[in-house]
Amino acid sequence: MKVAVLGSGAMGSLYGGTLAKSGCEVVLVDVWKDHVDTINRSGLTIEEALGGVQTISNIKAVLKASDVGVADLVIVFVKATATEQAMRDALALVGENTTVLTLQNGLGNAEKLCGVVSASHVVAGTTGHGATLLGPGKIRHAGAGDTVIGELDGKQSKRVDDLVALFEKAGMTSKFSTNVVGLIWTKLIVNVGINALTAITGLKNGRLVDFPETETLMKLVIDEACSVAEAKGITLEIHEIFEHVKNIAKKTEANRSSMLQDILAKRATEIAVINGAIADEGKKLGIPTPVNDVLTNLVLVRQKTYDDVC
Ligand code: NAD
Repeated sequence: MKVAVLGSGAMGSLYGGTLAKSGCEVVLVDVWKDHVDTINRSGLTIEEALGGVQTISNIKAVLKASDVGVADLVIVFVKATATEQAMRDALALVGENTTVLTLQNGLGNAEKLCGVVSASHVVAGTTGHGATLLGPGKIRHAGAGDTVIGELDGKQSKRVDDLVALFEKAGMTSKFSTNVVGLIWTKLIVNVGINALTAITGLKNGRLVDFPETETLMKLVIDEACSVAEAKGITLEIHEIFEHVKNIAKKTEANRSSMLQDILAKRATEIAVINGAIADEGKKLGIPTPVNDVLTNLVLVRQKTYDDVC
């Protein structure tokens, strides 16, 4: 099985490195030259949060997809802001029988991929793993979780069964879902409840539930997102979603959310496809989402003023 990982930062390196360790042929595709050069020179180093470091050397990295050719599986792990462009630049990876899998956060990644490659190639899902980029060629695996994958139309398929088996063989707990849209929305609502609030306050995930102010805001953004999901006929995977998000915040208490990390590193965030997506979908449906609107605008302003001197 030839696997190409498109966007090989924290999560792409985690999945690529883990699959390479289990014997797959893996090529990491990334536009970051230092990272690519370091991996080709010294291997990919994965530090485990619970202790232990390993360097994976049977893995290759490239800057251009055309140097890889057609892959059996393309795992897309660029940030949601780069999905369309990255896939367009990597069409050389996709042949007649290639499966393109997105496990990214945010709304609309699968749809964007379907706009670039035929929808018949695309499968989607979510990941419960967490990872942080430490520097070129080095990541930290912050926490493990399930990988859940499904066809966009909810049907069972051999290719999804094969993917589940591939991840399980690599030691990553993995499941098949007939409700991939609900799954993506459930993960979206977790991100809606945590990411923008941590990005604005600078708090680590666990501290959001230490203050009535942030906990109240968390409930408000989640309630708005649930109203939008309900109006769209989405079946969420979890009923008590506010409790679920609070539990995740507590379970990942020491983590800085990816949006906070982006703000601290002065990078573009995924706000437009997280809280911004709830605001956009709400507008289309005539459902007010004032708290998501405010958080989206605050994060957008932070992004626009990285270079301002205060
Ligand atoms: P990251 O920023 O660490 O990695 C993204 C990589 O994509 C970078 O290395 C960047 O150089 C590369 N890239 C950008 N444009 C590209 C292009 N055109 N072609 C090829 N490569 C390109 O991001 P991440 O934290 O790994 O997150 C990836 C996705 O996974 C996001 O949607 C994120 O929300 C989601 N996610 C992250 C975590 C986490 O713990 N980090 C957990 C679950 C889901």
